[in-house]
This record gives sequence, C-alpha cells and structure tokens, in this order.
Amino acid sequence: MTAAVSFRGVSRHFGTVKAVDGVDLDIAEGEFFAMLGPSGSGKTTCLRLIAGFETPTAGRIELFGEDVSGRPPYRRAVNTVFQDYALFPHLNVLDNVAYGLMIAGVPKAERRRRAEEALSMMALPGYGGRKPSELSGGQRQRVALARALVNRPRVLLLDEPLGALDLKLREQMQDELKTLQRKVGITFVFVTHDQGEALSMADRVAVFNEGRIQQVGSPEEVYARPRTRFVADFVGGSNVLHPGVAALFGGRPAWASLRPEALRLGPPEGARITGVVTAARYLGAATRLVVDLGAGAPPDGRSDVAVLVPGGHPVPAPGTRVGLAWDAEALHPMATE
Ligand code: ATP
Repeated sequence: MTAAVSFRGVSRHFGTVKAVDGVDLDIAEGEFFAMLGPSGSGKTTCLRLIAGFETPTAGRIELFGEDVSGRPPYRRAVNTVFQDYALFPHLNVLDNVAYGLMIAGVPKAERRRRAEEALSMMALPGYGGRKPSELSGGQRQRVALARALVNRPRVLLLDEPLGALDLKLREQMQDELKTLQRKVGITFVFVTHDQGEALSMADRVAVFNEGRIQQVGSPEEVYARPRTRFVADFVGGSNVLHPGVAALFGGRPAWASLRPEALRLGPPEGARITGVVTAARYLGAATRLVVDLGAGAPPDGRSDVAVLVPGGHPVPAPGTRVGLAWDAEALHPMATE
C-alpha cells in the first residue's frame, strides 16, 4: 500500500544546524503516528516539512506516493493544528472554523453547514457565536481541531496539541483525540516530547534525537525493546546498563536495558545481586527506589539501578540492603549508539 507520508533521505539544515539529518520514514494511511523526542531534536521541523512550511535541503517528501517537495502548503492535502491553536480572536467560533472554506471559495450556506457539522463532531454544538476568549482551553483545542478537519485533509498534523492543557484535561483529550482519529479515519501525525502521551495514543512512534530517528516501532516495541541507549533512557527511564553491569546481571557484555518494573526486591540472603537502597520517590501508584550495587560495578559504569515497587508492596527504607530478582528475558541488549 502506498504510504500517506514518506521521507526519502530528508535533511533540513539551517547553516551548521542539522535540524533534520537524513530521515527515511513511511507513515501508513490511517495511522496515528507520533514523533517523540526532546526539545530541539527536529520533530517540529519534520512536521513543517510535511506541511510545506519548510523545504528539504536534501531528499524529498512524498504524500500518497507523489513528490510534493516543491509544492506550497495550500496545495497539499494536509492541515496543521498548532500548539497555541492560532485562532483568530476577532472572529467567532463558527467563522474561525469556516475560515479555510471561505478561502477555498465554498459558498456561504455550505460553509455554515460544514462548520456546524465539524463543531458538533467536536462536541461543541451551539458554541458557534462565541469568541475564542469566551472558551476554556479544552474547548479552544476542539475548535482548532474542527477548523483543521473541516476542509477534509487526508493528513492531520498536530504540533504538541495538548501542551497548553492541564494534566487532567490532557488525559481526557488524549482519549478524545484517539476516538476522533478512529472516527474520521485519516492519518494523524503528532509531535510531542511527552513519552507517556506518545505511548498511550500512537499506533507507532518515531523516537528522534539530534535530527535523526533512533527507532520506529509500536509503543510496546520502543518501550520494551529499545534499540539504543538513548531510546531506553528517554522512553520510560529504563536502567541503561554498562556492559560490565549487564554481565553482572547474567547478560552478554554489551549495553543492555532493564526496566525498573522488571526488577523485584527480595531478601539479600541468597540473592544473585544485592544492593543498598539510597533513595525512594513516592509516585502514588508505585515507589521508585534507587539501589546502589556498590562493589562489582565497573569504574565507568553507573553502579545504581532504579526499581519500581508497585503500590501495596512494602517499601524498604533508605539504608536497607536488598536482593534483586528479574526474569532473564527482561535484560535487553542494545546497540552502542
Ligand atoms: P521543540 O520540542 O523544542 O519544539 P523540536 O524537536 O521540535 O523541538 P525543531 O523545532 O525541529 O525541534 O528544531 C530542531 C533544531 O533546528 C533546533 O536546534 C532549532 O534551534 C533549529 N531550528 C529550527 N528552525 C530553525 C530556523 N528557522 N533557523 C535556524 N535554526 C532552526
């Protein structure tokens, strides 16, 4: 099947800054795709390349199999929802939503009908007469979505779409966005630096660092089987074990990741590895402990690991010596990048 969006050896350099550096990527039609990475890793530039606000310095962008590298934004079947929503403050909600249709020359009655339809899809019927300033953050977000969907793009781009919302609303909107995407069935590409958001919403995730993609895969793949140390650390804060420490844990001498929740505490007597609890952080549903493995760790490796203790289990106090247990398959070897 032809991909909805393809990057073919795409770079976007700004002078000496390699914002995007040799990206190859296919995003399938109907996919909910996340671009995840720290600030400055090139995610937004990738989104702008798809939209046509940037042009590649090398390589090409394809939409549905067609090279669109030289095509202006308004001639691409793509729309963008910006983080600040970019609503027109002087226009009411209905006119904001219908704006793109007006520019496209759609007759007034049809503009109105389609804008109202988009608003009711976003659970905002009857809000058409309000100004953006008379709406809550979540409602503004829905207006921005209605406006982006009203002219029926084939790909919707979302730049940190939930960044401006408080935590509770964020979680609610994560569910809503997912439901909306299933309902409209179009390709969504969203940018986020929040790994929880990417893992919970996306069908697949691309993890970016310094303009390059480190790994593309399902949320389960990037979480449980990170390919690089960067992915292991960035997605979910895995223990990244130096080859010497990995060998201590019974692995081969290569960099390895081990999830904090894959480690279980037990008595130190008879345990293969023991350590001393040095810190405990209560997280509500669990407590994250730091356990210092002490002697045996190589001088250049970290000698401590994080252990997640689920709620309801006893939490040893700092200073306590504990034993560690884990399943062999939880130790995951990685590339050295
Ligand atoms: P954030 O999450 O902070 O938005 P990002 O991953 O989206 O970060 P980009 O905005 O794509 O990152 O930026 C990647 C790099 O390119 C950064 O170092 C940035 O400073 C640089 N950059 C982006 N746009 C320009 C520009 N127009 N001119 C010069 N440098 C730029």
